[in-house]
Amino acid sequence: MENKTTSSNFIKNIINEDLKSGEYNEIVTRFPPEPNGYLHIGHAKSIVLNFDLADEYNGKTNLRFDDTNPLKEDQEFVDSIKEDVKWLGYEWENLCFASNYFDEMYDRAVLLIKKGLAYVEDLSVDEIREYRGTLKEPGKESPSRSRSVEENLDLFERMKNGEFKNGEKVLRAKIDMASPNINMRDPVIYRISHANHHNTGDKWCIYPMYAYAHPLEDAIEGVTHSICTLEFEDQRPLYNWVVEHSEVEAKPKQIEFARLNLTNTVMSKRKLKQLIDENYVDGWDDPRMPTISGLRRRGFTPEAIRAFCREIGVAKSYSTVDVQMLEHFVREDLKLKSPRTMAVLKPLKVVITNYPEGQVEMLDAEINPENPEMGTRQIPFSREIYIEQEDFMENPPKKYFRLFPGNEVRLKHAYFIKCEDVIKDEEGNVIELHCTYDPETKSGTGFTGRKVKGTIHWVEATNAKSAEFRLYDSLIVENEEEESESFLDHVNPNSLEIVNGFVEPNMDEAKAQDKYQFFRHGYFNVDPKETTAEKLVFNRIVSLKSSFKL
Ligand code: ATP
Ligand code: MG
Repeated sequence: MENKTTSSNFIKNIINEDLKSGEYNEIVTRFPPEPNGYLHIGHAKSIVLNFDLADEYNGKTNLRFDDTNPLKEDQEFVDSIKEDVKWLGYEWENLCFASNYFDEMYDRAVLLIKKGLAYVEDLSVDEIREYRGTLKEPGKESPSRSRSVEENLDLFERMKNGEFKNGEKVLRAKIDMASPNINMRDPVIYRISHANHHNTGDKWCIYPMYAYAHPLEDAIEGVTHSICTLEFEDQRPLYNWVVEHSEVEAKPKQIEFARLNLTNTVMSKRKLKQLIDENYVDGWDDPRMPTISGLRRRGFTPEAIRAFCREIGVAKSYSTVDVQMLEHFVREDLKLKSPRTMAVLKPLKVVITNYPEGQVEMLDAEINPENPEMGTRQIPFSREIYIEQEDFMENPPKKYFRLFPGNEVRLKHAYFIKCEDVIKDEEGNVIELHCTYDPETKSGTGFTGRKVKGTIHWVEATNAKSAEFRLYDSLIVENEEEESESFLDHVNPNSLEIVNGFVEPNMDEAKAQDKYQFFRHGYFNVDPKETTAEKLVFNRIVSLKSSFKL
């Protein structure tokens, strides 16, 4: 059973207090992505946090698209985000779009103007910045600040009607140009953008700014606890100002937590987009990407991602989590669930010279020794098999227990074989091994005559199914010695290795997204995009071993 209850944390403490004091009677959270890219593992942390919290308190969670910037947003992103949230295993209460509240946001801005709490600004963006002051110096009041309510109402309406060009005017909240918190120095709350919006089309040419829009979105939906990342801490006074002065009924509360950072990983959508645009990866769902769609295609499971997000917990201070911890959870999840079979990634042909020509026998093998309920499978064995190139060495070092001339090893689930002869091509490359087998040593018959130190895997050659294997390494590598300008300098040129080999014939039925543990190689996922009727393509999710300890 999945343990959904996370240990106590500072957010739960706040919620417990709020319920006790009667400030809220029901918990409503939201996950508010901007549809300007695909979701990544950092978003998963926020999704798990918001949905689990509501769940634990019998509350509700909305999926809300924070679509207030028409230039960057797109239906493709809306669709992918919905798919990813569902795939992670969550059901939203309401599907909301911030853009559906544009009318109400406009009306509340008019209300602020009428209350003398907002004004239309003529200064340019640069001038506004200049007037804003610094952390040490207070800001200066703009000449526009003293406009009459009537003039502001007229100008704001004309902004809405499209009478001005982009950047010509903005609407600002009238708060305090001398506030020690720069966010409170008359922040811009509406800007002009003559752009087509994915949801509202050409209806609007003015768009609310995040700091004004977000608290209203929360209030309109009756959100109680609006959980966001730490960068917004300084904006909390502004959040509260908007809630208070725009006279909304509901009083949501902003709580900040530290965003997830992972080692060897870039997470911002801007950087991920750059990796795609500059062809470092094949798209948002490239299995090397830390996106939910990339992780899914790589073979990570929702169960593993949820378990990871719960384990890392929430805190108020920044930290970086080892990406191996995420890998740990997918191993844990797949350990008992996935069938264990054999695959040869870099094949070397072996002919067993004393095995009868034309004979194929079927051997029994457990599907998953740690989970006997999965039963057994049958694997063919014959005179010709493939083994892994690296399981043979002509001149091995000491303590090499695999195949070398004259040495005997165990073939997993089959017999002992002994290397008798090495066949080479004209250039001296090993192209085939000739071995003999001992029929007495058949696996499962309790043979105890002698022992061998090495066990290797193999696939019967005439029935083997050919397959492509994609082996991944970190997309981003740390290189602390060199100062570099851009994260692109840290892109690993060897993040993908493609090899062609074989899997057991019983994998005929493998279909997209099926997951296997290949003996000694790790966990693999059937790639949903590139697998064809002729060729299976496997993405390595993770290798088997890790030094990581939880
Ligand atoms: P990015 O910086 O990657 O573009 P964002 O914060 O701009 O992310 P949004 O779509 O605005 O992306 O985020 C939706 C929600 O996900 C927000 O509540 C945000 O706080 C949260 N979120 C984004 N990145 C992370 C992260 N790394 N860890 C935890 N939560 C995150
Ligand atoms: Mg953003």
